Amino acid sequence: MAEVYNWQLGRNMEYPYEEHHSKRQFAAVFNTNRCIACQTCSMACKSTWTFSEGQEYMWWNNVESKPYGGYPANWDSKILSQLAEADPDGQKWSEDGTFDGKTIFEAAPKNERVLGYLPTNAEWRTPNLYEDTSTKYKSSGKLGLADGGAELPAHKAWFFYLQRICNHCSYPACAAACPRNAIYKRPEDGIVLIDQERCRGYRKCMEACPYKKPMYNAQSRVSEKCIGCYPRVEGSDPLTNGHPMETRCMTACVGQIRLQGLVDLNEDGSWKEDRHNPLYHMVKVAKVALPLYPQFGTEPNIYYIPPRWVPREYLTQMFGPGVEEAINAYRAPSRELLAVMQLFRRSQEIVFRYEIEEGPKAYETKVRGEKFTMYNDTVIAYRENGEEIFRTEVEEPVIVRPPERSNAI
Ligand code: SF4
Ligand code: SF4
Repeated sequence: MAEVYNWQLGRNMEYPYEEHHSKRQFAAVFNTNRCIACQTCSMACKSTWTFSEGQEYMWWNNVESKPYGGYPANWDSKILSQLAEADPDGQKWSEDGTFDGKTIFEAAPKNERVLGYLPTNAEWRTPNLYEDTSTKYKSSGKLGLADGGAELPAHKAWFFYLQRICNHCSYPACAAACPRNAIYKRPEDGIVLIDQERCRGYRKCMEACPYKKPMYNAQSRVSEKCIGCYPRVEGSDPLTNGHPMETRCMTACVGQIRLQGLVDLNEDGSWKEDRHNPLYHMVKVAKVALPLYPQFGTEPNIYYIPPRWVPREYLTQMFGPGVEEAINAYRAPSRELLAVMQLFRRSQEIVFRYEIEEGPKAYETKVRGEKFTMYNDTVIAYRENGEEIFRTEVEEPVIVRPPERSNAI
């Protein structure tokens, strides 16, 4: 095994291949607080990529109700249990944010490159089991039934929606485990692909990926996975006149919870400082968005704004030690973050840079005892070549329906 640096763990870790990074990285931020589980993203993906024979069970994008739902069933609790067994009492983070436990590479059994398991057919049967099912209220003991009110910061009974696609990881477990070297990371954008000619369907990728995102096609007898809608990201879709465009699941999002882009990488894989890239701002400056199960060690590139009503212990296990800071940043956003959040889903094009024009004070209030002021700033989104894509304001415009149209749809 080689030694590679994983910035999400704050330390070096073992990985089967030498450290090598793409020029840019496909990345996205999902705001779990706003998802309504309409599954439009899931359908947008399915109707684009997985509508053929052999792909019936494939949901490259899925949205599950946590804590009980999962596709395949129990994917996360199973790998967490395997890790806990391999490294009893070791799955902990230090005060300084370093992960002290073992990753799925470091906990691999002898003669294996990655710790994992192959889901059964039954586990793939029900993509949205336990939809909208909350935990029990301690006093009533009834699943999902409230016997009183609930209030922030953390509800006693809770659930939330977790949106999942392939994380196009910086250290992909799927690629690490493939005995045919059929899985590769594109040097131009870090999208992880399975070469359909080289794959022989051994399913080692399905076994190794802790997020269970590669799926076997029994018709073609090779494995498939999310391809990051790479033709769109490359800008080959005629809709945007050759400009890079976000994926189908992102652009279809009804709740406007998703923003995808590309971040520039240094040679060591760290993110190049790019102060006005919206993803850089949210992940590195505001620290409002966190990776999913960073302790697995694959350095996933989909970042989540954690749901603010969920017990922090659960969220810390899922998103790592930055949970409280991220929720605070979201609950009372800085002037800049609030403007950046307006960039979600105003266009199908990838926003490479933003600028903010300061506007007047809109109102003042208190958030958990602290003064909070909102300004009606204008945020302007730019293409890679510096052209403006759109501009939008923090305050949504109020449109009053004229009396003669009061009953019109
Ligand atoms: S999420 Fe899984 S399939 Fe996707 S790159 Fe990471 S390890 Fe590979
Ligand atoms: S389309 Fe958006 S709001 Fe609807 S389920 Fe998907 S992520 Fe959630």
